[in-house]
Amino acid sequence: MHVLILGGTTEGRVLAGLLHGADGAGDLRVTSSLAGRVATPRLPAGEVRVGGFGGAEGLAAWVRQHGVDAVIDATHPFAERISFNAARAAATAHVPLLALRRPGWVPVAGDTWHEVGSLAEAADALGGLGDRVFLTTGRMGLAAFADRPEWFLVRSVDAPEAPMPARTEVLLERGPFSLDGERELLARHRIDVLVTKDSGGAATAPKLTAVREAGVPVVVVRRPPVPEGVPTAAAPEEAAAWVRAVGAARGQRATDPGAGLSMEE
Ligand code: NAP
Repeated sequence: MHVLILGGTTEGRVLAGLLHGADGAGDLRVTSSLAGRVATPRLPAGEVRVGGFGGAEGLAAWVRQHGVDAVIDATHPFAERISFNAARAAATAHVPLLALRRPGWVPVAGDTWHEVGSLAEAADALGGLGDRVFLTTGRMGLAAFADRPEWFLVRSVDAPEAPMPARTEVLLERGPFSLDGERELLARHRIDVLVTKDSGGAATAPKLTAVREAGVPVVVVRRPPVPEGVPTAAAPEEAAAWVRAVGAARGQRATDPGAGLSMEE
């Protein structure tokens, strides 16, 4: 069985490790796909390919050519295009698809959240919230903030490129981040407001605790919609169980060719 994991997340990497290590018999082939945005990515176990497929059609062709039996979309909740491509490609190539999505964050007592629908709305929401902005939405969407007058601390894995706000300081760092570190960062840079995507997960959550403690407001970009009809798992272990179930169903069909087929098929 060949499983394709569309990755670029911690969860995708953990899942690759679970699947790659689980099969002592060598019957399970695991390929992770990375977009190639990060110069030195943390590599998952198993095989790795890097770069776009050429849209949904390209992905469907890749799936067919490489004998993929199941696809797991473990991309970041804000990687919208690849998720829709995966849904179309899986339907075209007739392979099962699961979306692995870590749960989003929820505000708790003491939080001051301003929820918005896009980076452009996040930029608009900054007016009146303070002059010193901690921007953690990644290096790709900085253009949305390029015309803002505030000072920005931009934290990203790789260096961002223009256009970006005129008053920007860049901090090149990769999570996970500690609560103490986030507290110190907020104090050192006298941060007035945090901007974040609702990425979810533990690795970057300490910033939310730190701003809560400091009484700093947060502009939170809501998640884009997920493709309709795609089953989801919230954790890598759940996705691994789904792969086992797909494998078991395939084994069942191999021994009983009629199993699982409707009358029309
Ligand atoms: P996107 O807008 O959904 O995708 C743009 C294009 O990049 C896709 O159409 C596809 O090209 C290619 N692509 C994306 N993910 C891919 C993958 N895993 N393997 C092969 N090709 C991929 O994605 P994005 O927001 O630019 O994110 C790119 C990658 O970074 C994703 O894999 C995601 O998991 C990771 N990431 C994103 C964010 C974020 O905030 N967006 C944060 C952390 C990590 P083709 O159409 O040519 O196939």
